[in-house]
Amino acid sequence: MTAPQKEITIIGGGIIGCSTAYFLTRHAFYSAATHRITLLEASSSNAGGGASGKAGGLLALWAFPQNIVPLSFKLHQELAKEHDGEKRWGYRRCWASQVDCKARVPPGLGAGYAQAGGVPTATAGAHAEPSKGLHKDHKMDSKALRKLGAPDDLDWLDTVHSLRGYDNMGTPDDTAQVHPELFTRSMAQLAEEAGVTIITGARVTSINKDTDGKSIRSVTYEKDGQEKTLPTTDCIVAAGPWTSRLLPQIPVTSSRAHSVVIKSPHPLSAYALFTAISLPAGFPTPTASKARGAAAAHAVPLKRGQSVEPEIYARPDGTAYACGPTDDTVPLPLTNAEVEVGEARCDDIIYQVSGISDELGRDGQVLAKQACYLPQGGPFIGEVGGVKGLVVAAGHTCWGIQNAPGTGKLVSELVLEGRTKSAKLGSCDPSRFM
Ligand SMILES: Cc1cc2nc3c(=O)[nH]c(=O)nc-3n(C[C@H](O)[C@H](O)[C@H](O)COP(=O)(O)OP(=O)(O)OC[C@H]3O[C@@H](n4cnc5c(N)ncnc54)[C@H](O)[C@@H]3O)c2cc1C
Repeated sequence: MTAPQKEITIIGGGIIGCSTAYFLTRHAFYSAATHRITLLEASSSNAGGGASGKAGGLLALWAFPQNIVPLSFKLHQELAKEHDGEKRWGYRRCWASQVDCKARVPPGLGAGYAQAGGVPTATAGAHAEPSKGLHKDHKMDSKALRKLGAPDDLDWLDTVHSLRGYDNMGTPDDTAQVHPELFTRSMAQLAEEAGVTIITGARVTSINKDTDGKSIRSVTYEKDGQEKTLPTTDCIVAAGPWTSRLLPQIPVTSSRAHSVVIKSPHPLSAYALFTAISLPAGFPTPTASKARGAAAAHAVPLKRGQSVEPEIYARPDGTAYACGPTDDTVPLPLTNAEVEVGEARCDDIIYQVSGISDELGRDGQVLAKQACYLPQGGPFIGEVGGVKGLVVAAGHTCWGIQNAPGTGKLVSELVLEGRTKSAKLGSCDPSRFM
């Protein structure tokens, strides 16, 4: 049977767009002779500065939604085996643990402390708004944690002075990790080698339908100040948090999240830590989730104790990634390049990690302070109501890295076979609300 001619355009070169490109080229019905696949990415590089380049990279069989998680977790393992993911994108099995800690005030604080008398006092500073971690839905109340001693190899956490409670959320049987940026770039490169054209610096401005509105005709994008139009029979919108700007009927929302990368002087054992850290009075005050601007709240010591929940993921390259809470103070800009990084919010994370780990605090070297937008509301995977060839794959929440290969595989089936076979779309199918 000859495959029908298709001109497939993928919008977005984050992990979802690049995984989709990869799986399209691996589908049994794909033929480089009859299928033209183009991926358009607004940033100057793919994985370009969006959440896919700035996420933690945790993979877990206990993630959600459960209709696609097992497929995607398995595909991650198969991809790592096939393409040497251990070396290429830092794939490894790991532990995920919930830890309840009490922080020490880190030494060497900023100017605000000098003004407050050098040594933090419990009289200055005020704002004590508890902040919640990204994966908060998975956590149990810290009071319910078993008062276990920490495992011996968790030697980069100050278990003697800081740790108050420990429990496993995931073990190497059901939990793994990747370096998300390296994984995304690898998917893009493998797709390109199989015939996909990737155009960066290309921001899509409209998806154009036929006159009857029932099928796709083309996609218009801007590149280097010029408008171009690409003939398209099948359009996959994988624009992460920007998806609703192209498809207003798909309710993807977003929140900004900050993160840091810290290099440790020693290799770090494979733990992802979901922390609950109680900051004592005198600790640098975290930036309030609603505070706009660069004012560094942490220049003033906390008056009363406060609880925070940064997540810390040790990576095989000797770095640790840590992220803080989300905030809605700065709306999603036009592109990744304009994402505003709040330095003070990054410093908050660095102080908090330093308060429970000398390895990452006193002895660590900060390599990156960054921000991105977490896409929320979905995941939405499937055909967009009544328009032949229009598919969405977006809104993947805090599990988009885990669920990217499964999403890519399902979209490849949808586009090339007209139905999904590897898993049921279930709650991800946008037709349930359209
Ligand atoms: C702090 C943080 C930590 C996280 N940790 C984890 C984790 O440990 N495990 C996990 O599974 N998930 C994690 N996630 C979630 C994960 O990062 C996201 O779900 C995932 O990266 C979303 O990928 P995406 O491709 O949909 O979006 P993005 O990565 O945002 O990519 C979308 C791309 O589309 C492009 N684009 C947008 N509009 C256009 C347009 N008009 N034309 C052309 N291109 C366009 C953008 O430039 C962007 O590159 C985390 C997220 C955050 C914020």
